[in-house]
Amino acid sequence: MVKNLIGAEWQEVSRPTLPVYNPATGEVIEEVPLSGKEEVDRAVAAALRAFEVWSRTPLMERVRLMFRFKELLEKYFEDLARLVTLHHGKTLEEARGEVRRGIEVVDFACGAPTLLQGRTLREVTGGVDQNLFHYPLGVVAGIPPFNFPVMIPLWMFPIAVVAGNTFVLKPSERTPLGAVRLAELFLEAGFPEGVLNLVHGAQEAAEALVSHPEVKAVQFVGSEPVARRIYQLAAQHGKRVSAAGGAKNHLVVMPDANLDQAIPAILNSAFGNAGERCLAGSVAVGVGGVGPELLERIVESARRLRVGPGWEEGVQVGPLIREEHRRRVVGYIQKGLEEGARLALDGRGIEGKGFFLGPTVLDRVSPRMVVGREEIFGPVLSVSYAQDLEEAIAQANAVPYGNMATLFTQSGRAAREFRERVQAGMVGINVGVAQPFAFYPFSGWRNSFFGDLHPHGPDAFLFYTQRKVVVERW
Ligand code: NAD
Repeated sequence: MVKNLIGAEWQEVSRPTLPVYNPATGEVIEEVPLSGKEEVDRAVAAALRAFEVWSRTPLMERVRLMFRFKELLEKYFEDLARLVTLHHGKTLEEARGEVRRGIEVVDFACGAPTLLQGRTLREVTGGVDQNLFHYPLGVVAGIPPFNFPVMIPLWMFPIAVVAGNTFVLKPSERTPLGAVRLAELFLEAGFPEGVLNLVHGAQEAAEALVSHPEVKAVQFVGSEPVARRIYQLAAQHGKRVSAAGGAKNHLVVMPDANLDQAIPAILNSAFGNAGERCLAGSVAVGVGGVGPELLERIVESARRLRVGPGWEEGVQVGPLIREEHRRRVVGYIQKGLEEGARLALDGRGIEGKGFFLGPTVLDRVSPRMVVGREEIFGPVLSVSYAQDLEEAIAQANAVPYGNMATLFTQSGRAAREFRERVQAGMVGINVGVAQPFAFYPFSGWRNSFFGDLHPHGPDAFLFYTQRKVVVERW
């Protein structure tokens, strides 16, 4: 059974457990305990004890430890990627990409001496100077989703702790092993006990953290209904909150697009990570006359994608996270057909024990249909048609989410028009997955984000600090 990390001690929890699976084989590989208020109280108390000294530890010492942590992440890079593939299911190549993106946040956190600098204004009035300083908040908490078991925890605690906070992380109960390994390496790097604590569990543990009086800020990443709920609960308890939610991302293809570049990018966006990605392309919109060729080429290429266990050479689409989730995604396909979509490629019916679903393409989907507006979170790409860019933008803006939207075109004018009018916080131009690098915010809009300051980038340093302004006269 995986253990909670409280201070420097790995503690076994006597609570009901949930199985952790290898999704490619359906085998149970671990058990994860469902911690409750008691375990959360213990973790917060350990973090609170550590805050006293950690918040006053010189910045250069905090940064030195972060560099050591980075070195260990590089040393165990391949092991971390294998662990992600083992219990999440994504291909090894995708897992390596995930670990790399996560390490880039640690690289960014190492820039704290620049990013935590304050501001000074001398002689504001006769003999008076003003100084602005950044201070840590105290104990802060992170609640990540299942789909990036290494990268999303790394969006959270490195920036928080380098800024002088102490942290309680509640990993996803479906993929807790990445966070366990990260915490082991964090201790090995030499961080003092209590700076990072782990509490395993699900809703009960998450709610106990969000309502704990000593937790000053909560960073959540997950589905839209839970993000909304966490935002409300945290606000009700007077906490700072950043809650990233779900998505429904449109990939718009103009008649002048270079399809040799666009098709592989669309395939990777829709079917990479088995579609379990908040930046997954969910609807491909063919503009003007490009529609029929776009559909045909997507279907022909998607049909050839190899589905299988993520660790096998040449596999491009791994399994879904759980059998229940696979059934949910199949339910969406069925719903789409009932609503009048046409099944252009059917990925159902893969035999075996793993939770596999092949690439599926639904044609003639509109934003009025459930499959055109809700997040499916599986390897299902909808195709729709628009007469012109205006209509395509209207389709993208008709969904309540605003994570990502992408345009494939050769026209700078169309690209600019799209960028200006699409209601999404991350926009791709000839890029299928417009993921901002660590030094930019992960900038979802509308129902894809609840809060003000987004994950990583300078936003995250502001999120994890409070400002003090000193007005001085001597
Ligand atoms: P989820 O909302 O089910 O779970 C996320 C976290 O919240 C987990 O740690 C879980 O234990 C906890 N949780 C679940 N139900 C809860 C409840 N009722 N109260 C309190 N906590 C609860 O999400 P998931 O299925 O793990 O992840 C997939 C979702 O995350 C997708 O919707 C995806 O789009 C989204 N996501 C968003 C981003 C982003 O940056 N916008 C990034 C990755 C994933």
